[in-house]
Amino acid sequence: MTLDQSTVSQDARPIVGAGHTALSVVIPCFNEEEGLGELLDRTRAAAAARFPERFEIILIDDGSTDNSWERMRAAARADARIRLIRLSRNHGHQLALTAGLSIASGDLVFVIDADLQDPPELLAAMVDRMQADQADVVFGVRRQREGETYFKKFSASLFYRLLSRHSEIDLPLDAGDFRLMTARVARALCAMPEQERFIRGMVSWLGLKQVPFEYDREPRFAGQTKYPLKKMLRLAGDAFMGFSMIPLRFAAQFAGLMFAILLGVTGYALFSWIAFDTVSGWTSLMVLVAFTSAVQFLLLAVIGEYIGRTYLGQKRRPLFVVDEVVGVDPVHVDRVR
Ligand code: UDP
Ligand code: MG
Repeated sequence: MTLDQSTVSQDARPIVGAGHTALSVVIPCFNEEEGLGELLDRTRAAAAARFPERFEIILIDDGSTDNSWERMRAAARADARIRLIRLSRNHGHQLALTAGLSIASGDLVFVIDADLQDPPELLAAMVDRMQADQADVVFGVRRQREGETYFKKFSASLFYRLLSRHSEIDLPLDAGDFRLMTARVARALCAMPEQERFIRGMVSWLGLKQVPFEYDREPRFAGQTKYPLKKMLRLAGDAFMGFSMIPLRFAAQFAGLMFAILLGVTGYALFSWIAFDTVSGWTSLMVLVAFTSAVQFLLLAVIGEYIGRTYLGQKRRPLFVVDEVVGVDPVHVDRVR
């Protein structure tokens, strides 16, 4: 696909700054007020260098509790190429990102973090790579991660390796959500209705030509990480449950093991009943009962998790709720799910 082919439908175009949008930069922000000025300056410069006057910057305020929204509004007042969405509460990075993708009208969509860990200046090189390789996705692969704890690096590395070994999709190692993609990829992502969104996995699942782009991840520009352990574990859970059968397989293997053990116990009980004159043991009975119910509980928990997710997905709730928009046609936002 070449960049000249317009892949965006007319009705997907925002009202402000009408005209052909070549590039949409999508940036989820959660309490990022300190870095916002620098973020916008650098992003604008990088986008303008490659796509003068034909880009938009979409900022998603994911329920920030600091002054992010006020700062965003001020920035949008001064620059019509900036569009804003404010979610009604903190919906999490993956849903904030989806909200941004859903209103992106560019032929190309560039996803970056608000903390400048993924340098916006790499845009030009990534566009070149996309054109050279005729790819639909150019995804950033972290060569080095600076300013991050050993625990984070270790856990991330383990996570990507475990997931890629056990999942059905071809998930690239050490790639985050830093990506350049074509409009059709962004549209396809928005069309996937799942609630628990692990976007980098979903992009891989989509297929099409995807090429890696190595870069050094910089330290956070300002503020603290907005991904505490709890959110990280949740994302990992979404990834494993959404893209692998590890929990079910583990449950199945465990059940097999327990089955063998219990069979042995049964055999022993029968044997001792025949061979010795035993008063049937209270211990063995207890062990049997306790183990059996433990296994049952474990299996029920895993099966329940899957059923729960099926149930939640079945409800087809909207993925996010928008509180306010700036420079975006509200009719279009209503259509978004
Ligand atoms: N983020 C968000 N909602 C959240 C958590 C994070 O929109 O609930 C955004 C955050 O503002 C940043 C990006 O997601 O732009 C990545 O978060 P962060 O840099 O804190 O994660 P880390 O790089 O530490 O993994
Ligand atoms: Mg970060």
